[in-house]
Amino acid sequence: MPSKVFFGTARQARLEAKETLPAKLDLILEQLHLRDRVNKETVVIKMHTGNNMVYSTIHPVFVRRVVQAIKDGGGKPIVVDVNWDTAGAEQRGYASEVIGCPVYPAAGPDEKYFYEHERPYKNIQKWKLAGLIQDSSFLVNFAHVKGHPTCGFGAAFKNLAVGCMAGATRGAMHDSMHYDPYWFPEKCPDKSVLAQIIAACPFEAVVEDKKNPGNLHLHMEQCNQCERCVRVAPGGSLKIDAVNFHSFQEASAIAVDIVLSTFAPGKAVHLNLATHMTPVCDCFGFTSMPILPDAGVFGSDDIVALDQATLDVIAKTRLIEENLPTTMEVHTREGHPFRWLHGPHKDPYKAMEYGEKLGIGSRDYELVDILPLEFPERASMPYIAAH
Ligand code: SF4
Repeated sequence: MPSKVFFGTARQARLEAKETLPAKLDLILEQLHLRDRVNKETVVIKMHTGNNMVYSTIHPVFVRRVVQAIKDGGGKPIVVDVNWDTAGAEQRGYASEVIGCPVYPAAGPDEKYFYEHERPYKNIQKWKLAGLIQDSSFLVNFAHVKGHPTCGFGAAFKNLAVGCMAGATRGAMHDSMHYDPYWFPEKCPDKSVLAQIIAACPFEAVVEDKKNPGNLHLHMEQCNQCERCVRVAPGGSLKIDAVNFHSFQEASAIAVDIVLSTFAPGKAVHLNLATHMTPVCDCFGFTSMPILPDAGVFGSDDIVALDQATLDVIAKTRLIEENLPTTMEVHTREGHPFRWLHGPHKDPYKAMEYGEKLGIGSRDYELVDILPLEFPERASMPYIAAH
């Protein structure tokens, strides 16, 4: 049976408060029966509180409504994020006086409060899950949707996968992209070619390996897989291979599985707010122009269905290429707009595929519009001939 995903579009028929996104979020919380489910629960609201001067994260107006719903239902809410994003979160409006509950670093101020979960994957043996996540009895995963240079996009999946792990595991997840070899030095005996390969990349994504001079290192985040470097590299010495990029997506699915395994069935809800979507993550500490039209607000008990539905709705709109930073490049127009933005191997659907294989949720969903748009009928205008 398909999973239900509740959806409120960012569009309005009328300029009335009840048709705006905070009101549609309220309707989704009702559909998810959040109030009825949180009595006496310690509710952790995992969100991205941004960094530095970012202003496109979830507006406190939305957070306050979720916090209030939890309090109305008899739950005890806290907001958490990684330590370097909660430090200074009040400067972006996330203060208890505004949102109605405290904001804490999920793994403690020094990222030393975590529980280890053994689950070998490539370079990762033990996953360090943030203590305040595992200590809570109910999870509200409240994510801001945006592009992401590591995996194409960030939403509910990434909010848990990376945001609920302590720093050492976050780093290891990114390092998993380097686990499968992509540089074969024996095929490039002339070391003077290295400089040409490095110079071929307009994004400084391929550099000399600091730890291993005379070899190459790929900054996967900066790479849009244009393959200019491959054209210069002697045959087969450098690979821009999907396996490296997909490792992060697979690691993300495992991380989500670990996070959700610490909550009893029915003790997690997932929300996506797809507004002011920027090319890169909220942790970059600034807000750039929106690169997609606002889509709306989404909610589900199924995290896989939620991100799948969010991507599908966004896919029906268009990348606003004129809003991209001039140093970015679109070299493919195949697949999802987030793929156009970050390259073909950063397919945003990949994490959902891995998540479904792990049994976290289903990509088969029913999208329920909680307030469908009205399209008023209008009498046709009389034709007035120009004189
Ligand atoms: S594929 Fe393109 S972006 Fe990536 S390292 Fe090579 S030249 Fe740079």
